[in-house]
Amino acid sequence: IHTEAEWAEFGKEHVTHGLGRLRDHVMVKGRGAELWTSEEKRFLDFTSGIGVVNLGHCHPAITAAVTQQADSLVHMQCSIAFSAPYLQLIEHLLPVMPHPSLDSFFFWNSGSEAVEAAVKVARKYTGRQNIITMQGSYHGRTYGSAALTKSKTIYSQNTGPMMSGVITTPFPYWHSLGVSPSTSEEELCRMAFHQLDLVLKQQTAPSDTAAIIIEPVQGEGGYVPCPPKFLHYLREVCDKHSILLIIDEVQTGFYRTGKYFAIQHSGVRPDLMIFAKGIANGFPISGIVGSKKVMNCMPVGSMGGTYAGNPVCCAAGVAAQEVYKTGHIAENVAERSAEMRSVLESLAKSSKTSHLIIDTRILGLMGAIEFRSPSSPLTMEGISQNQNVPKDIGKRVQKCCLDKGMLILTTSCFDTIRFIPPLIISEKEMEEGMSIFRDAVETVAK
Ligand code: PMP
Repeated sequence: IHTEAEWAEFGKEHVTHGLGRLRDHVMVKGRGAELWTSEEKRFLDFTSGIGVVNLGHCHPAITAAVTQQADSLVHMQCSIAFSAPYLQLIEHLLPVMPHPSLDSFFFWNSGSEAVEAAVKVARKYTGRQNIITMQGSYHGRTYGSAALTKSKTIYSQNTGPMMSGVITTPFPYWHSLGVSPSTSEEELCRMAFHQLDLVLKQQTAPSDTAAIIIEPVQGEGGYVPCPPKFLHYLREVCDKHSILLIIDEVQTGFYRTGKYFAIQHSGVRPDLMIFAKGIANGFPISGIVGSKKVMNCMPVGSMGGTYAGNPVCCAAGVAAQEVYKTGHIAENVAERSAEMRSVLESLAKSSKTSHLIIDTRILGLMGAIEFRSPSSPLTMEGISQNQNVPKDIGKRVQKCCLDKGMLILTTSCFDTIRFIPPLIISEKEMEEGMSIFRDAVETVAK
């Protein structure tokens, strides 16, 4: 038996340093929005394991389904035969798809693999090779998905060449476009439309462009909701040029933003949609969905994978869908989201803390607060304010929260803290988390 400190030393010695960590704790138990370390230190979880345990840690219905499935059939390689949960999961997903045309599925293990599967399908279906991705996007760390990731250079630095045929265009976010945070959505969309138009004229002809891939709310890029108007514009451009629109719902799916899928806030139809994380509340399964016409372009046997669509993960997925459909999740998301919004907005207005904060963004239980950065090239209207703020505010706030038993994440871009609590978080837990967070920002502001 080791103490937590001994395990941490062991981990530092034998786990690659390429894997970063917030803290060297060893977690042994999770329930709802709480986690406990091997030494019984409790954490309030505002990460959900990066948007995975939407229904809380160890949801009893999911644990029961998994236990039962583990006793019946653990592995059925999907190229050998279907398993019952594989088909049951599809049966549950079909009626909640954002568009009835999305009726042909393929399951994978991780978000990154699903992203790459979507790229293959799009290239094969269109016979074209280029993919347009958004600045600030995150689609994964494997070669193909990392090539589409534009949130941080670390995912591709010194490890190239990456997958070719990737072209980047600005997301309608003030940082991407080099304008002030007070720029209207209308104006941001107009500028981002213009840039995409130029990309299609100067960098990749529509006839060479297989797909445009976008997150409906950028995740690692800073929790930036995409204005519905921009998504409608993408749909129009894609229709006009027979380009496929790939919607990456890996982080935003399964009620994270208050709807089953975030694309439903706009009503835009995806040609291909990618999902993972919340689908099975912690069991590793991802997938893509498209119309039969698109998905069946792939030759028989060209898609598959040893663990893809594992029966235990599918059973977890089925149980999770049952809870999503009956658990009043949307109501809780709306109520807790409003509470979070009021705290973040009050911090952004307060005379004690407003000088640190440049933006707040919330859709459902994807919330972000962006701090001013003295090193940001983008000072615009805040040049003088930015010079007076400390460095790395987000990291300092995060440290205060961690010290007080709240797990919380920053994002890759800029100085942003993001909030991703389980969707079932209680009013009391939200209040506790927001109070720890408020104290942390006030401490850093002193
Ligand atoms: N797409 C998005 C939008 C994501 O947020 C992530 C993971 N954070 C991925 C893809 C990659 O998923 P995974 O880590 O399961 O490979």
